[in-house]
Amino acid sequence: STMPPLLSAIANAGRHGVLAKSAVVMERLGQVDAVALDKTGTLTEGTPRLTDVHPVPGGGLDADALLRLAAAAEHESEHPLARAVVGAARERGLVLAAAEGFTAAPGRGVTATVEGRRIEIGSPARLLADDPDASGDEHARVVREWEEAGKTAVAVLRDGEPVGVLGVADRLRPDAAATVAALTRLTGRAPVLLTGDNERAARQVAERVGITDVRAGLLPEEKVAAVRAWEAEGRRVLVVGDGVNDAPALAAAHCGVAMGRAGSDLALETADAVVVRDELAAVPAVVALSRTAHRLVV
Ligand code: ADP
Ligand code: MG
Repeated sequence: STMPPLLSAIANAGRHGVLAKSAVVMERLGQVDAVALDKTGTLTEGTPRLTDVHPVPGGGLDADALLRLAAAAEHESEHPLARAVVGAARERGLVLAAAEGFTAAPGRGVTATVEGRRIEIGSPARLLADDPDASGDEHARVVREWEEAGKTAVAVLRDGEPVGVLGVADRLRPDAAATVAALTRLTGRAPVLLTGDNERAARQVAERVGITDVRAGLLPEEKVAAVRAWEAEGRRVLVVGDGVNDAPALAAAHCGVAMGRAGSDLALETADAVVVRDELAAVPAVVALSRTAHRLVV
């Protein structure tokens, strides 16, 4: 064909299921020599399911009441954890109360008023860290157990008091380990895992895909700081993510790629390229492709 090489590279990337937003993106994809991967929605499928509901003993809520309250507060959130909570409440036929004053803090959790009570939902490490009483110990034990099984635990507070914890599990993508291996071959170093989730769950996933460098419990701006630090060392970093919490890191990276299907609107808008077919293995494929295309140009 008479198509210019970079244009034909974009078309080829499209055939692999990756939408590159410009020709410059193809060039940048070919230049990356370090990779940072998000966990939830990137290495995992991003459609987690609720597995456990644990109300505070003696806290006045049974499992359904806890789930109903949490789902009402999470209703407006687009986070995969929120979708798991709301989906489980629906499956149980629970009728959700309206929430007022909903706010989401990326990488932290959500807050809303439900039936006149202030509900906070988010990371147990942030919400329950210095709970001194016995119910705190009980939570810590349950949370640790779930996290050791690779699950994500979220804490639910009502008017500042812990009322329970919820356990959520996500499946590893079938091509996650092969993708990590391919990216390692292409860049000469193993990708690192950057996640807002807890260290124990992060290590579980990392071990199964062949990643040893794990940074867990990161806020969105801490993901950016990690990327900037490598770029300051001369690395050209490829970030792959899906969440609102990943958007700043996608923007800071030499090249940012968003997972399309489970991806948040903000991640899709911010990224340089989008994986439109839901296959993580498309990422190393287009890196390899863009190198070939670039060689043709120079
Ligand atoms: P990741 O980097 O793994 O995609 P996030 O940065 O989005 O994770 O979230 C980090 C942590 O913040 C979650 O593991 C959870 O504890 C908490 N969190 C964020 N958003 C929510 C939400 N909508 N509901 C409950 N917890 C949340
Ligand atoms: Mg994510």
